[in-house]
Amino acid sequence: MSTDHLNIEFKLHPVPNRLLSRNTPPHVNSIEQYKKLYKESIKNPTEFWGKLANELLTWHTPFKTVLSGGFEYGDVTWFREGQLNASYNCLDRHAIINPDKVAIIYEADEPDEGRKITYRELLHDVCRFANVLKAHGVRKGDIVTIYMPMVPEAAIALLACARLGAVHSVVFAGFSSDSLRNRILDASSKFIITANEGHRGGKTIHIKKIIDEALTECPGVKRVFVFRRTDSSVPFSSPRDVWWHDEIEKQRPYCPPEIVNAEDPLFMIYTSGSTGKPKGVLHATGGYLLSVVANLKYVFDYHEDDIFGCMTDIGWAVGHNFIVYGPLTNGGTAILFESTPVYPTPSRYWEVVAKHKITQFFTAPTAIRLLRKFGREYVDSHDLSSLRVIISAGEPINPDVWEWYNEVVGRNVCSVIDNYWQTETGSIILAPFPGVTATKPGSVTFPFFGIDIAILDPETGEEIKTTEAEGILAIRQPWPSIARTIYNDHNRYLDTYLKPYKGYYFTSDGVGRDRDGYYWIRGRVDDVINVSGHRLSTSEIESALIMHPATAEAAAIGVMNESKGQCVHAFVNLQSNYYSTKIEDLVLQVRKSIGPFAAPEKIYIVDDLPKTRSGKIMRRILKKITDGQTNSIGDLSTLANPEIVDILIEKVKHS
Ligand code: ATP
Ligand code: MG
Repeated sequence: MSTDHLNIEFKLHPVPNRLLSRNTPPHVNSIEQYKKLYKESIKNPTEFWGKLANELLTWHTPFKTVLSGGFEYGDVTWFREGQLNASYNCLDRHAIINPDKVAIIYEADEPDEGRKITYRELLHDVCRFANVLKAHGVRKGDIVTIYMPMVPEAAIALLACARLGAVHSVVFAGFSSDSLRNRILDASSKFIITANEGHRGGKTIHIKKIIDEALTECPGVKRVFVFRRTDSSVPFSSPRDVWWHDEIEKQRPYCPPEIVNAEDPLFMIYTSGSTGKPKGVLHATGGYLLSVVANLKYVFDYHEDDIFGCMTDIGWAVGHNFIVYGPLTNGGTAILFESTPVYPTPSRYWEVVAKHKITQFFTAPTAIRLLRKFGREYVDSHDLSSLRVIISAGEPINPDVWEWYNEVVGRNVCSVIDNYWQTETGSIILAPFPGVTATKPGSVTFPFFGIDIAILDPETGEEIKTTEAEGILAIRQPWPSIARTIYNDHNRYLDTYLKPYKGYYFTSDGVGRDRDGYYWIRGRVDDVINVSGHRLSTSEIESALIMHPATAEAAAIGVMNESKGQCVHAFVNLQSNYYSTKIEDLVLQVRKSIGPFAAPEKIYIVDDLPKTRSGKIMRRILKKITDGQTNSIGDLSTLANPEIVDILIEKVKHS
């Protein structure tokens, strides 16, 4: 499983001009400086993070101990005597100095309906709503479930919880009532924040209806705060339900922040559920906030006048970090985008970039693949000259898709930042630095500060110390934003992350390190395909398939085979103008790019692939279908397009 399998010319992309020719140089201004700082962060994490924590955060009570505890017992703590408040760090300290600076640009579903919110206004709104929550009994440590459309009140809800030291648990408002109910029950939430309805892609989402269905079996829920996004009336169950707009009228626009310990939880969040039952992980206030503020500054080269456009939903870890906590802790301006990449047309993203002069643009590979399928003409006519950094995360980005993003969106003058991390890591693990790191398409390049990477042999668990290496991605020492536990299930936390390889945090992803020390994420360890003794990663085969101009999206899986152990099957979704493409040509592409042993035994041409609600391909479902185990497909609650399952079962059965 090495990059040498691929006969792709891995062009080294030098640092683009737009970054180098600016008056404001990047925060880290050379690869040598990155290496020096990185070394310091690993050798002496206490000094490194202690200094940054004082520089980037405002503390109510200073900390004395930077790091204590470790992986053995899962008792990691950062800044343990320190006290602070996250909403104070996001709001007050900027509102005092710069009240009229725009904090949030709300880009509504309909392009002309958005608005801008300044730091003064946001602080007022958060305080008012925090006072509402308080008046209804929300106290420090209570878990509040948030199920909201992408309106500014969603960010206000998060920050109002943080103001009171309450723990928010945001559930993406695309989840069904069953999934929502499970998460409310798992978190024993007594309070829910929601809306009557939502708007997305010109469609209405009946949010309150889903809430009401979920709550039929949640007797513990005492209060539901309902924001009115549309004029439609919805069933209302008093005294449980209260209207946001009625309640805030009663409250003053200041609420003193509840000062919490650095280790008090700021929020819990469920993982995407790509591999099985989602886990509700808990993040600690001080360490989380520090990692995220540092990510924005260094990995995305955030500067004071930047407009940060992260197009995801607040319901995901990326949204927590890069719509709310990262930009606001830095005193920045964040875009809050309510719509989809294709509404009203596939030019929407680029209209938004041009309209608000976005400097950093962040989306997921699934959206880039979709827009690439629509064609570059939707991008070409827009003024994207404000962009400096274009970002992708969440899944491997195949080299060809990376090149498209770089050329068509970045116009070869922006830094492409493919960043790897997990809900559980809380912040970025591997990524290039803009203006610093020469990139290789498909590689997440180097570790972030304080991330001590180890590649482990999957069988022996021994560390592979050679530069060129293939194995399991593990991390040797704690970093500030590592999740502290799985809510109510610390043993599952230990079993999942800390026990599989003693002394390491286990990511469950495969990784390669090439001769230049660049890291390549191979996909989940469980998805590795073993053909006649060759270990192949899903992302390697998928990248080869995507090199064929006909392929829009591909998913590869291993299927039991008597002679080879496993053989490769692939599911391919074709570009619109290539429906007459022959399967042999796709197979040939893999033979050419990797080798005959990797050639898929079967390729199914499909219109769509099973995806999580955050847009990630769920290979485990494809595997169950090809293995004929359709009765035990497992947890489908995180699947965005459940109708695809039966279609694919039929397809596989009849081919
Ligand atoms: P679950 O843990 O519930 O199965 P999930 O792993 O998809 O779901 P997330 O925390 O959202 O939940 O995703 C983290 C995973 O996404 C990583 O472990 C990795 O497999 C993948 N990933 C994220 N970013 C990248 C990236 N830039 N390149 C490659 N893979 C990535
Ligand atoms: Mg995961």
